[in-house]
Amino acid sequence: MMQITFHGAAREVTGSLHLIEVDSQRVALDCGLFQGRRRESDAKNRTFPFDAARLDAVILSHAHIDHSGRLPLLARQGFDGTVYSTAATRDLCAIMLADSAHIQEEDAKFLTKRLHKKRPGAEPPVDPLYESRDAADVLRLFHTVSLNRPFRVTSSLTAQFHEAGHMLGSAGVTLTYANGRQPPVTLVFSGDIGRFEMPILRNPAALPECDYLICESTYGGRKTQSNVDLKERLEAVIKETFERGGKVIIPAFSVGRTQTLVYFIHQLMEAGRLKDVPVYIDSPLSIDATEVFRLHPDCFDAEARRFNSRTGDMLGGGCCTYVRDVEDSKAINRRRRPCVVISASGMCENGRILHHLKNNVTSPKNTVLIVGFQGQHTLGRRIVEREKHLKILGEKLPLRAQVVVLNGFSAHADRDELRRLTQPLARRVKRAFLVHGEIDQMEKMTATMREDGFVDVSAPETGTTVPLNGGASSPG
Ligand SMILES: [Zn+2]
Repeated sequence: MMQITFHGAAREVTGSLHLIEVDSQRVALDCGLFQGRRRESDAKNRTFPFDAARLDAVILSHAHIDHSGRLPLLARQGFDGTVYSTAATRDLCAIMLADSAHIQEEDAKFLTKRLHKKRPGAEPPVDPLYESRDAADVLRLFHTVSLNRPFRVTSSLTAQFHEAGHMLGSAGVTLTYANGRQPPVTLVFSGDIGRFEMPILRNPAALPECDYLICESTYGGRKTQSNVDLKERLEAVIKETFERGGKVIIPAFSVGRTQTLVYFIHQLMEAGRLKDVPVYIDSPLSIDATEVFRLHPDCFDAEARRFNSRTGDMLGGGCCTYVRDVEDSKAINRRRRPCVVISASGMCENGRILHHLKNNVTSPKNTVLIVGFQGQHTLGRRIVEREKHLKILGEKLPLRAQVVVLNGFSAHADRDELRRLTQPLARRVKRAFLVHGEIDQMEKMTATMREDGFVDVSAPETGTTVPLNGGASSPG
């Protein structure tokens, strides 16, 4: 008997976690961090709805923190099973979970300080969700598996990863439950699905045939901007800014977005379309992530492989300067000449990007180029909305720089791309479950899938348990 309980990313987009129970064993699909308002998400993050020590395995779809970010907590609470992932996902987790642990530690210090300011000596220090050593501990539990290679998870459960095209190493997973008595049951978990024709990454693979489908629905009801001419638009922004004698400041997520930008800039330079353009990648995490990309050409699409072998290093080769040292970072701000600075964090919440913004937003010669989603109440969002004044590192500054927003870098399949992948399964799937989406997107995607012939589509609430039975002939 197999059953599933949805414990996260249920009618929301973070905290991905689904528990599979087969016979007497328990396997988690993902173990993600809830993100959002601090108090709300902290309460959801601190406890698991099951005994971590009794969990047998985790199958991890990809390294994004909303899918992997509670693995260190699992280890801290006694989990000693195996975490199955692709090799690139494991390597990205090594740096991303360490970074997440650092953020948790800093957060706890900050909260403790604030508490003690209010009531000196009265409160015990705030415990971080987990620490660096937990992030290191959980890495020992990883077992990496290549795409399209079946592996055994329990005596009655096998699994196989397929390409999800969403980030380096990302995968969807097919689970097959066979106990020798009843017909086998197959369940496909889409993970997060990427876009078609994304730079560097391969296209998402077709979803395997299955009895049950768990599918992400982030943009299940939305057509998003095409990613076709992004490189050309990036070129135009850089050229226009340089003609004014200004700098291009790009806040970008360290993993994925930064490498895409470097890849495009390198291609533009190689084609002779960008000349004498100094580019600085100012983020230690981005540098580490770039190293992981270099280790995994197996994850690249054909074009990236060709470009990588032709240039020797598609993310380097003199196209940009990686800046790890703090003094070198400060030196960029003393430069007078035009340059491009790519730095984190992607939503301008913290990190070195703040210094670059502080030094550059007041001049109309400069451009702040936004290439990623900016959450509500973030500095990035205030820049997108072109607020007249910005508060950066405690200083109120007038926003006089140009602000350019380039949509289309999204790493999530849109409505049409999700439909292209799900439609072929319509007559085969008994039940489809939508996860990882806001409710309006889920409703629209549900309608589309019903139109396509899916007989049973739902968006389960947190805590919903569903038995997954084999045997019955396919509906419709
Ligand atoms: Zn993701």
